Amino acid sequence: MNVHTDLADAVGNTPLLRLRAASEATGCEIFGKAEFLNPGQSVKDRAALYIIRDAVKRGLLEPGGTIVEGTAGNTGIGLSLVGASMGFKSVIVIPETQSQEKKDMLRYAGAQLVEVPAVPYKNPNNYVRYSGRLAEKLAATAEHGAIWANQFDNTANRQAHIDMTGPEIWDQTGGKIDGFICAVGTGGTIAGMAAALQPKGVKIGLADPEGSGMFKIYTGEENPGDSITEGIGQGRVTQNLEGFTPDFCYRIPDSEALPVIFDLLKHEGLCMGGSTGTNVAGAMRLARELGPGHTIVTILCDYGTRYSSKIFNPEFLREKGLPTPDWLEGGARIDLPTV
Ligand code: PMP
Repeated sequence: MNVHTDLADAVGNTPLLRLRAASEATGCEIFGKAEFLNPGQSVKDRAALYIIRDAVKRGLLEPGGTIVEGTAGNTGIGLSLVGASMGFKSVIVIPETQSQEKKDMLRYAGAQLVEVPAVPYKNPNNYVRYSGRLAEKLAATAEHGAIWANQFDNTANRQAHIDMTGPEIWDQTGGKIDGFICAVGTGGTIAGMAAALQPKGVKIGLADPEGSGMFKIYTGEENPGDSITEGIGQGRVTQNLEGFTPDFCYRIPDSEALPVIFDLLKHEGLCMGGSTGTNVAGAMRLARELGPGHTIVTILCDYGTRYSSKIFNPEFLREKGLPTPDWLEGGARIDLPTV
């Protein structure tokens, strides 16, 4: 038999897909790591698995215990599903602005949801800080105790990418990789990839949505604006980002990321979420920076179905002044004969 005995075994080892249109447009080879194929359907399953394993190993999480986390959604889905498969409960604190699709999925994953207003980190009621306080209280009161996953400052998150994602991509490209680029949420992915691949000569690019603080932190230049992407954008150097320095930084406006998402659907058959648009747009910028003939890898973070009420909703896009493809407006893609 060739079977997995545990959901945890099904995390990682995702395929690396050549992105044909992006490769042809730049003269480079651009590949996307298909993280949407993880059991929780996002790149965050890896961090969730490592955070849970680390807490168990350190004796902080006992059978029947509760995992508490503040999350834009995907980490919560990973923690809840992987946690359930190991016998843990989960309580997830999420900003109310996040997509309904992710909130629904969290409920299906068995999480108890706490929705809080979306306020900046400096506000004590910010979702991350709220979840930390809740975890502290639950640790004292809940049966079998509780832990705070603390994905932003828990470096088990970054370690997942140092141990798994980095070596997987190195093996899949046979070491023929010149650049890696992605956006930052917690920074676990980019900093883990940098730790794994920068010493091997791979250039690391950071793709930052408008309004995120990363661009200013690493370049000193302002990054005004706003973004409809979810799960990315960061205003501080988290513990996961400690010691990390990108080789290149790009500001990626939604007006650049969104057409890339629609192109991925049209040319590659990939229905992806917003951060993947930022990542692939960033990969194309890095490809143009390094010049033709180079190999660039990025992350395909999660499915577009997680954002159908936003990215694939023409009314929402129009309201935000963002480009909407004809077919999304109900226009025909193929002229049909009368039958
Ligand atoms: N894309 C999506 C959709 C995410 O949910 C996240 C994590 N919040 C990221 C990208 C960023 O990953 P990381 O936390 O490793 O920086």
